[in-house]
Amino acid sequence: MSARPYVIDEMISAKAIAARIEALCREIHDEFDGTDKLVVVGLLRGSFVFIADLVRELDLPIEVDFLEASSYGDGMESSREVRILKDLRGAIEGRDVLVVEDIVDTGHTLNHVTRLLASRNPARLKSIALLDKPSRREVDFKADWTGFEIPDEFVVGYGIDFAQRNRNLPFIGKVRFIDGPA
Ligand code: 5GP
Ligand code: MG
Ligand code: MG
Repeated sequence: MSARPYVIDEMISAKAIAARIEALCREIHDEFDGTDKLVVVGLLRGSFVFIADLVRELDLPIEVDFLEASSYGDGMESSREVRILKDLRGAIEGRDVLVVEDIVDTGHTLNHVTRLLASRNPARLKSIALLDKPSRREVDFKADWTGFEIPDEFVVGYGIDFAQRNRNLPFIGKVRFIDGPA
C-alpha cells in the first residue's frame, strides 16, 4: 500500500477502451486471418485484463500463454534490467505469436521479450500494447499495434497496478497524490 494518500482521476473510460479494442481486433484479424497456429502471449501481470478482452473480441482459433518479466516491483520507477520470472509453457517455433503488453514506457521490457521470443524462431511475431508513453522511450521500440498514446503520467486500472492495488478498476486512471506533487 502507498503511504501517501492519493486519488485516481479517470483518463480513459471503459467504453473508450472497449471501442478501441474492437478496432484493433479488426486489424489483428486481417493480419492473422487464415492462421490456425496463433499463440496470444500475455505479459503478466499488467496485461491480464487487456488480453481477456482482446481474445474474446478476436474471432480466430488461438491458444493463450503467459510470460512474466520483472518490472517496477512495487515502486513507480522502471528498471532497465529485464529478467524473465516465468517463461512460456509452450514452444513457439513455427507458430504465429502476438505478444500483449499493458504499457510501453522506456521500451526495455518489450524490446527484451520480443528479442527473446524471436530467437525461438516463430513464423510471425507481432506485439500490441494498450498504452504507449513515447516521451519516455530509452530504446527504439514500437509495438505493431497501440491502443492509446498517453503523456508521462503514472496510470493504474484495467489490470495495471500501483503497489499491487487498483488492477480491478474498469477504466484507466492517473494517480494524483493529494498531499502535493509526486
Ligand atoms: P518499460 O520496460 O517499457 O519501461 O516498462 C514497461 C512496464 O513498466 C509496463 O509493462 C508496466 O508494468 C510498467 N509501467 C510503465 N508505466 C507504468 C505506469 O504508468 N503505471 C504502472 N503501474 N506501471 C507502469
Ligand atoms: Mg508490464
Ligand atoms: Mg507493476
